[in-house]
Amino acid sequence: MAGSQSSLREANRALVVDAVKRHGGLTQVELTGATGLSPATVSTIVKELLAGGMVEVRPAVRSGRRAHLVTLAHRVGLVAGVVVGYRQMRVAIADVTHEVVGEQTLPLPADHRPDTSLDRAALLVVDLLERVGVDLDELLAIGLGLPAPVDASSGLISVRGVLRGWDGVPIAQVLEKRLSRPVFVENDANLGALAESTVGAARDYHNSLYVRASHGVGAGVVIGGRLHRGLGGAAGEIGHVQVDPAGRICACGSRGCLDTVVGIPALLEPLRTSHGNLTLRDLVSLANDDDPGCREIVSDAGTVVGAVVANIATVMSPEVVVVGGELAETGETFLGPVREAVRRRTLLNQPTPLEVVPAELGTRAELMGAIVLALQSTDVFESAEDGTQKGSL
Ligand SMILES: [Zn+2]
Repeated sequence: MAGSQSSLREANRALVVDAVKRHGGLTQVELTGATGLSPATVSTIVKELLAGGMVEVRPAVRSGRRAHLVTLAHRVGLVAGVVVGYRQMRVAIADVTHEVVGEQTLPLPADHRPDTSLDRAALLVVDLLERVGVDLDELLAIGLGLPAPVDASSGLISVRGVLRGWDGVPIAQVLEKRLSRPVFVENDANLGALAESTVGAARDYHNSLYVRASHGVGAGVVIGGRLHRGLGGAAGEIGHVQVDPAGRICACGSRGCLDTVVGIPALLEPLRTSHGNLTLRDLVSLANDDDPGCREIVSDAGTVVGAVVANIATVMSPEVVVVGGELAETGETFLGPVREAVRRRTLLNQPTPLEVVPAELGTRAELMGAIVLALQSTDVFESAEDGTQKGSL
């Protein structure tokens, strides 16, 4: 009997710690809602965790009122997030409340290779840790994002050809060997979905679709509050949905994928005669400066992406669609046509129209997702308890 009571208490305590870990910081009232525990139980557990130094309570403002947020204690450790893109790498160090304490971006050459890029990632992590005055062994874990589907069980890219030169490379092990810390690898759009659904625009919803419109288009599917990875981590690869049966051959080997129509090479091609050689950054900033040609390209892309999103939404019926990636930085130029296409193509008699909103974390969603992944994958609670007071509460 005593055993089952203490295991119930352990389980309740884990619920509270998980909720704090997921959301970064919650009031006791929010903790009651997030865990389903009674206010009295939450209050007792928070007191125990405070006494054990596992959590801290700090003043904040919630809905315009003063509140006290329960967060994991800073001393519990730090995590790193790394996102490798086609032409740049972003690295951040954050504490267990998701607060970023150091961040850096590095440009990468086209067709960069895993050995040199992962070397650079390792150097950046060490460099950032040095700058915040923390030793490598205080780093709990590293979350790493890539623009390709990743099989969580093998840590390998599961669809050949989508990230040239990276197929068959045991990415997590390569980086683990350089840093001697645990590394967890995930697709970048899935990381965006993870971040937006835990600390971003979709945090109040159970079912959401995150669309990342960048060099290519990807999506992350959250069902019942959990990231749906699918076979080989390939769920949400909307860049490879066929939109033109007579179209160009895609990097994945199929014909007429969404990426062959709205991927950056396809978007920049029609601008070459009028605008010369542009980059994704140029396209976004020109569209934001009201350049009519660039606005046209971005808004047409929104219509095509919106049509695919509408089909996915009809199947999974999410409560919200969150749009991130660089193209979303053009605001309504891209989002408006996406929303319009979704509105026209989803069921007309739905109780409420599907919301299409910009990513709250902007183009940092993937980086924040890498941090959330690292925190969720490592047992922050266990590592903090080691040598302190394991099992004494
Ligand atoms: Zn494809």
